[in-house]
Amino acid sequence: MSVLKFASTDQPGRNGLLALVKAKTGQDVLACYQCGKCSAGCPLSSAMDLAPHQVLRAVQLGQRDLVFQSSAIWLCVTCQTCYTRCPQEVDLPRVMDALRSQALQEKIRPAERTVKVFHDVFLGLVERFGRLYEVGLIGGYNLLARQPLASADLGLPMLTRGKLELIPRRVKDQEQIKAIFKRAAELELEEITGQSVAAAPPASVPS
Ligand code: SF4
Ligand code: SF4
Repeated sequence: MSVLKFASTDQPGRNGLLALVKAKTGQDVLACYQCGKCSAGCPLSSAMDLAPHQVLRAVQLGQRDLVFQSSAIWLCVTCQTCYTRCPQEVDLPRVMDALRSQALQEKIRPAERTVKVFHDVFLGLVERFGRLYEVGLIGGYNLLARQPLASADLGLPMLTRGKLELIPRRVKDQEQIKAIFKRAAELELEEITGQSVAAAPPASVPS
């Protein structure tokens, strides 16, 4: 874990990191009084360079570089443990998600490159087939993460026992999938530009 400098470097008003997090999540990060209960329960805390409560402290102090270059925002798996333990009801997973999204918008290189690779391959497959295609996920991830034989000892037996399907299956209604991804892209654009983009007709959950 890193040691934080306890001096605020945040910019006042709308340009500050605190204001940005508030706008993206509705969360008042100043409500966090650093009790550490979130970090004590976080299953990933020991692997993070900043523990979850330290991420919030860095946000409070406006330490943008520390936050956006940390591994913590990429290692968080949104398990909600911290949120359920927090006496101040700070929605830390939501804050982590917003920080990841902001880091991507600012084209900051992720401290955990392979996590970003996993997200990209996963979402690409869901967009294409409407559901997860496990063989494509393993193959695509291994290739892009430059570890072609990783987990081969697990994958091959699963393939031979019919636990994994070699040929991907698509959901029936591809139009609904397209509409969901289109709307997600519109919402992302709205967040960046601050301007409303016309919503597509609501899509029901595909079968
Ligand atoms: S549990 Fe809540 S109040 Fe305590 S450090 Fe974590 S976020 Fe802050
Ligand atoms: S949501 Fe993220 S930060 Fe919170 S406990 Fe889970 S992994 Fe840790």
